[in-house]
Amino acid sequence: MSENLLLFGPPGVGKGTQAQRLSSVFQIQHIATGDMLRAAIQSYTPLGQRAKSFIDKGQLVPDDLVLDLLGERLQHPDTRRGFLLDGFPRTVPQAAELDRMLKSYGKTLDRVIVLDAPEEELVKRISGRRTCESCQASYHVVARPPRVAGFCDRCGGVLSQRSDDSEEIIRNRLREFSAKTKPVIDYFVTHDWPVRMIDAAGNMDQIFGRIYASILLS
Ligand code: AMP
Repeated sequence: MSENLLLFGPPGVGKGTQAQRLSSVFQIQHIATGDMLRAAIQSYTPLGQRAKSFIDKGQLVPDDLVLDLLGERLQHPDTRRGFLLDGFPRTVPQAAELDRMLKSYGKTLDRVIVLDAPEEELVKRISGRRTCESCQASYHVVARPPRVAGFCDRCGGVLSQRSDDSEEIIRNRLREFSAKTKPVIDYFVTHDWPVRMIDAAGNMDQIFGRIYASILLS
């Protein structure tokens, strides 16, 4: 059985952390456009170079760049068992294009999970966030500290703060979310996508429990 999931919500709501756990529980591919863009920047691809100036300012990357990355990824054979989209779609045109792509690949989404939390909570979560430079595992200096400060529990890699996780850039990212990404929820609802709204207050395990139940109780 395959499970095709979409995790949607503002920056800092915990999509990445929940996505890592969900993709391991369901044995499906975690597809995060933010991670793919950061990898393109690190490899100095032309697409990465174009995307960098937007990401550094906390703005959304133009739709055509993201769609180029994603279209290929969704056709990869490793998505046959299922996939988990994280951070995509972020605009209404991206949602419409995803709709078109899924239909043309003969795929459907089993669940669209919409996470939400108050803005001040999001700022707190993002500013304390640290990511392993080697395996991308995520931590939080208060809520989920590593056993040894500055180093990954899983692989011993160095933990660092993303350059777009500074408070000024976070505020821009939240503004972009309200203006361009939030309207995507209306698209989901009017097009009968299988949406479940999940309260993302509380700790990681509580949020995971709510998401897991919303997937199993179809
Ligand atoms: P994330 O890792 O999901 O927080 O994404 C980091 C940054 O990558 C965002 O602030 C955007 O600049 C860019 N980005 C990621 N996914 C998308 C997307 N689907 N559309 C446009 N920009 C994106």
